[in-house]
Amino acid sequence: MSAPELTILLASPRGFCAGVERAIEIVEQAIEEHGPPVYVRHEIVHNRHVVERLRAKGAVFVEELDEVPDDALVVFSAHGVPKEVPAEAQRRQLVYADATCPLVSKVHRGVEQHAKSGRTVLLVGHSGHPEVVGTMGQLPPGAIVLVEDVAQAESLEVPDPERVAYATQTTLSVRETEDILAALKKRFPAIVGPRRDDICYATTNRQRAVEAIAPIADLTLIIGSPNSSNSVRLVEVARAAGCPRAELVQSAAEMDWSLLRGAATVAVSAGASAPEELVDELIAACRERFKLCVREIQVVKEDVSFRTPPLPQSNASADRRARLMPASS
Ligand code: SF4
Repeated sequence: MSAPELTILLASPRGFCAGVERAIEIVEQAIEEHGPPVYVRHEIVHNRHVVERLRAKGAVFVEELDEVPDDALVVFSAHGVPKEVPAEAQRRQLVYADATCPLVSKVHRGVEQHAKSGRTVLLVGHSGHPEVVGTMGQLPPGAIVLVEDVAQAESLEVPDPERVAYATQTTLSVRETEDILAALKKRFPAIVGPRRDDICYATTNRQRAVEAIAPIADLTLIIGSPNSSNSVRLVEVARAAGCPRAELVQSAAEMDWSLLRGAATVAVSAGASAPEELVDELIAACRERFKLCVREIQVVKEDVSFRTPPLPQSNASADRRARLMPASS
């Protein structure tokens, strides 16, 4: 019996963004220059495969600085950290590298400027997400008000409605954020903020690409981890765009093949923290089961990259270099 036919519509752009690539490079460079172990506060990016690969190279993932020994080098994740984290690292004289995405750092600077100008700062985002924790931690506790949905935007009270500013998490749904911002602008016509929102280019482009293909597919598969905001939003975007079914898949090995029953066309994309090899593996696994036709649909070409900063030197790496290259007397 011949294999059933299946068409994959492959979203482009998909997968790794410039901030994720930079963060992974910082950890890899730290391991190379410093030698293992290199401590990483929080998952460097929200993808289990990336984390496991870096762990195999010598990265040690921790949630808080008190798990980091005094002479170790520690990297802060791409999501950004509250100000108290580098302050605590300095107090302990830890050597650290900050892999916060430059687009998240830009949001940090924005909320600081708004607060300096005496405005109440509203942050549109999801409670508990590390990026939101990091952004709220740029100002003293209580200084930033989190807005999670339209209902909160409509009922919010501020000391002076004429002096309000907003910022947003970088990985939100573009459409949902538009609704929340419209509600805020209606409540506070004098509100100031970025030209549109702080949702980054990578989030926007990946959502646009999924919106283009999901309505013509029977099923959408988004490759990514459940704790990746970016990936989960893509599943929601596919459903909102009219795809009858949309699911998050961590890898081909964990694929529930019954999902493809009755599907002739499948849209495939990957969150900004999911490596391309996971997409390749899923396509290869489909090829083993179906007579496959793969069509890549590009909605926008990306050419964004961020430079990695020079790494600080830890005492341990200096000792190690000294052992490898003893100074001539
Ligand atoms: S998703 Fe956007 S903000 Fe987050 S790391 Fe990537 S480029 Fe930076």
